[in-house]
Amino acid sequence: MERLRAAIRDIPDFPKPGILFKDITPLVKDPAALRLAVHHLLHPYIGRDITAVAGMEARGFIFGSLVAWELGVGFVPLRKPGKLPYDVQTISYDLEYGSAALEVHIDALNSGDRVLLIDDLLATGGTAKASCELVEALGAEIVGCAFVVELDELQGRKKLERYPVHSLLHY
Ligand code: IMP
Repeated sequence: MERLRAAIRDIPDFPKPGILFKDITPLVKDPAALRLAVHHLLHPYIGRDITAVAGMEARGFIFGSLVAWELGVGFVPLRKPGKLPYDVQTISYDLEYGSAALEVHIDALNSGDRVLLIDDLLATGGTAKASCELVEALGAEIVGCAFVVELDELQGRKKLERYPVHSLLHY
């Protein structure tokens, strides 16, 4: 895990003053670190009958697609509003200041689907909780939520108490 930690860069005051942003782009550029991250993300879910991986725009697409590929299942993008071309299910959620929303195609998942949710980072948990609810709104089940980074101080895990959470690195 120290190999992964070393590949994540801290960017102070991004996107706003006072925020220390964890930049995963050096990790995804490094083939060995990327492989290691994908391996550890999916490891607990081998043999768990996952039928789809869902990932949040935008960095969840990177890790989620690779995990889906390795598990031999399809990938479902959860997108910001207005990006998906077909009929969508939408969920809105509160941010610290303001609100946000995510959308999924209504036919992307069904009851009987067992979904692994993947994102790069768990902060307050608002994005991940909304994503789980969006998946459930299509009748599918969340088997687990996996993140490369978890910011422990923000207690996102508490918002996800209904779901098993797996994170590779804790800050
Ligand atoms: P939350 O909803 O507060 O848990 O924020 C998590 C979402 O914001 C994820 O989709 C992350 O990609 C993004 N995010 C928040 N902080 C960071 C960061 O420091 N680095 C990378 N992504 C972040």
